[in-house]
Amino acid sequence: MNYALHLMFFATFATWAETPKIRVSVKAIQGINAVCLSNQSTANNVAVYHSNNPDGDRTHLLLTHNRRELMPSSKSNIFAPYSETKKYWLNMAKKRFHYYAQQPTKVLVEPLEVKRWVKDGDLLKAAGMKFQVMATPGYTRESVSYLAVVDGKRCAFTGDLIYGDGKIFDLYSFQDAIPEAKVGGYHGYGARLADLVSSLQKIKAWKPDVIYPARGPLINDPAQAINKLIGRVQALYRNYLSTNALHWYFKEDRMRICGERVLGKGAKIDLMPYCLHLDTPDWIIQFSTSRIIVADNGHGFLLDCGGKNQFETAKDLVERGVVKQIDGIFLTHTHDDHSQMVQAAAEYFKCPVYTTTEYKDVVENPGRYLMPGLTENAVPNVEGMKDGETMKWHEYKFTFRYFPGQMIYHGALLVERPKAKPVFFIGDSFAPSGIDDYCLLNRNLVHPDAGYPLCFKIIRQLPKDTWLINQHVPHVFRFSDKELTYLETQYAKRTKILSELFPWDDPNYGIDERWSTFYPYGNIMKPGETREVEVRVINHSPIKRTFKVTPRDHRGAKVLSGPASATLASRGEGAVKVKIQAPKEPGVYVITADIDSKDMHFRDWVETIIEVK
Ligand SMILES: [Zn+2]
Repeated sequence: MNYALHLMFFATFATWAETPKIRVSVKAIQGINAVCLSNQSTANNVAVYHSNNPDGDRTHLLLTHNRRELMPSSKSNIFAPYSETKKYWLNMAKKRFHYYAQQPTKVLVEPLEVKRWVKDGDLLKAAGMKFQVMATPGYTRESVSYLAVVDGKRCAFTGDLIYGDGKIFDLYSFQDAIPEAKVGGYHGYGARLADLVSSLQKIKAWKPDVIYPARGPLINDPAQAINKLIGRVQALYRNYLSTNALHWYFKEDRMRICGERVLGKGAKIDLMPYCLHLDTPDWIIQFSTSRIIVADNGHGFLLDCGGKNQFETAKDLVERGVVKQIDGIFLTHTHDDHSQMVQAAAEYFKCPVYTTTEYKDVVENPGRYLMPGLTENAVPNVEGMKDGETMKWHEYKFTFRYFPGQMIYHGALLVERPKAKPVFFIGDSFAPSGIDDYCLLNRNLVHPDAGYPLCFKIIRQLPKDTWLINQHVPHVFRFSDKELTYLETQYAKRTKILSELFPWDDPNYGIDERWSTFYPYGNIMKPGETREVEVRVINHSPIKRTFKVTPRDHRGAKVLSGPASATLASRGEGAVKVKIQAPKEPGVYVITADIDSKDMHFRDWVETIIEVK
């Protein structure tokens, strides 16, 4: 991408129309476009997005939306759409468990002092120019754009609404609730793509000559770029619906409401018909989100224990002698509706808890992560099984699999019983209508050997006629070869659409919010305590990359180590150590870090929460 050159060209370009009064310049600072419009006759200037320039008489700094990584270094005369940030981190220190709203946490660490909150329809007069405020939600709920005619040229400052030639910065920021379809934030895959489409249409109708985005190259053919982006996100959403597990859970009418929001009224929506599903065999006891496999001698093996009800039912089955005793628990994945009471059940039944090695640490230390629906109830001693490892249990053979379907920290258990069709317990990864990929924050990677592509392969390798069990589905079910091919083909198409949708050299950066993250995510520290944490990075790119990590202090919470880098092979994972010190004063603090690599700049991108007690 010839982005740097493009900007350099523009930076020297002044809009000398009939009245050479306003000069527009753009300087990319760590990936953010610091736009400056200066009135040549009065020397007054207006900055948009970002300003590192204290020179001149800046009357306005126009912000389009609240994202921490766009925070200006200069803090005066700020105009921004309203968004609540007070006490955000105080609340988030608690809210991060059982979190299902799935809104980005790239929220300012310290609230900015805003001179005026702007809203749709406002007109700002600044430095001899007029800026019309237009609500353009999408990338964030509250986003606005500023529209101005500068020396006869129609200029739109649209924030992160569109990136370059029909792209967006990422997809996970669009996850949100869809109240009209009774869909919560957790199930609202790309929900704000509907807002994105209508905001883009509004901008297009204003007929801008040029779009100045918050990040990425200037857009000199707005109509063409907008059409491209609308086409891409509609293709993406249509594809998403076509294999969607929610068709099973929420049924067709609600899917139609979701579809029409993004695709338009009356749009044709393809939903996969339900695959073959039958009653659960009698050697499996079925209750809520748990199952018990029963051996001929009456011993039981419990799958998941997500809540009090599940725990009480399991206890009751043992007390009544229906099951003699529970010998072990397999935890399919880390969501609280499967994991909440696992430790309590393990203590009560005095039995081991099994996972695969890939998510053992999350189960043992949930507070070190930020993921949807985490429990605070750690299971201190988990038996982490290797992918493919087998275990004999009475007359059964168990095969433990790493199975990153519904989420990245997910396993599955193949259960083979003599003279019975095998059963593959897949947690929440498939339903009779397709795949459970509705929550982008679950990290469904689209590499050919990760996420659902890996699950498709594992399902293809199963013994003939193996039944699948998802504990939310009161049946066993399986996909025919044709249905599985359909899922694989649609998913490959989706991956192709995603590859075109983001400016990155690999689509996983656009769907995996946690490609870089602090570990631990949450820290409980004593006043003045020092600790070494790390910033973990995954190189999703097809090339070797060096990632520079620059940590930032927050009030008394100090970073004692300097910037450091990690060079990672393609698909490699690594970490940079960061030494931190807690302040003396109790409270909640947030240390952030910039991540930079070639053509990739993420200012103030990752955070770790420090609770000083
Ligand atoms: Zn789940």
